[in-house]
Amino acid sequence: MRIKAFVQWANREAASQGLPGQAIPADPHGPIRLSRFRRTLAWHIARRPGGLIALAIQYGHMRTVLDARTSSGYGSRSRRGVHAILDVETALAAADTAARLRERLAAGEKVSGPAARRALTSATHAPRFEGRVVPRTFAKKASDFLARDGIVLYDNPDAFLICAFKHDTALCEPEPGATAPQQYDCRPGCGNTVRTDTHARLLRERADELDQLAAHAPGPVGERLHANANRLRSTADIHEATAQPAEAIT
Ligand code: SF4
Repeated sequence: MRIKAFVQWANREAASQGLPGQAIPADPHGPIRLSRFRRTLAWHIARRPGGLIALAIQYGHMRTVLDARTSSGYGSRSRRGVHAILDVETALAAADTAARLRERLAAGEKVSGPAARRALTSATHAPRFEGRVVPRTFAKKASDFLARDGIVLYDNPDAFLICAFKHDTALCEPEPGATAPQQYDCRPGCGNTVRTDTHARLLRERADELDQLAAHAPGPVGERLHANANRLRSTADIHEATAQPAEAIT
């Protein structure tokens, strides 16, 4: 209803301002309904795991609901509808993460973390997708790809790492049967963690930002921000002390 009202308003304004070229044309697919936003929704669930805003965190929770294939009310094994679309977007996001990892390593970055070897193997063998036109048959391929526990790479920018998700070693307690981590609940010390030099640099940049915020924050809040900044720097130090070039790992 609101979208329809918005289109009517925009077209009225375009006519009254003498700007017919700015009018919104009739949609050949009919009225815009919520179901037409499914792929947009799946894109956000797949690519905004932790989120800097509450809505993104909500998307993370939605993945948990949608991804628990057997234990949730949505637990249909058939993976149709929004499940299939979520699988497609997740597979595309994982392919992008693998491509970025390959590029960083090719540029000479080092890699660290307990899952580094597994991530390198995954990045080498990950499917590459050209363009973003998704045929119907791709949903099944995406679902099969995501079901291969231990080889799917999930970018987790809020935790400054790549998650080479393996269900049994995940500390974020994914639901039984889930094929994706609960990235908004990423925990230090997990055996699925992988970091590159870029992650270490971003950790230090974030630590500096937190220190700047701490300088203008009242006592206890400032202390907590400083403690968080130091924790991030320690994580970057561990990366730098343990990181190896790709050739040394494979
Ligand atoms: S806790 Fe482990 S499995 Fe979960 S998101 Fe973090 S790295 Fe991935």
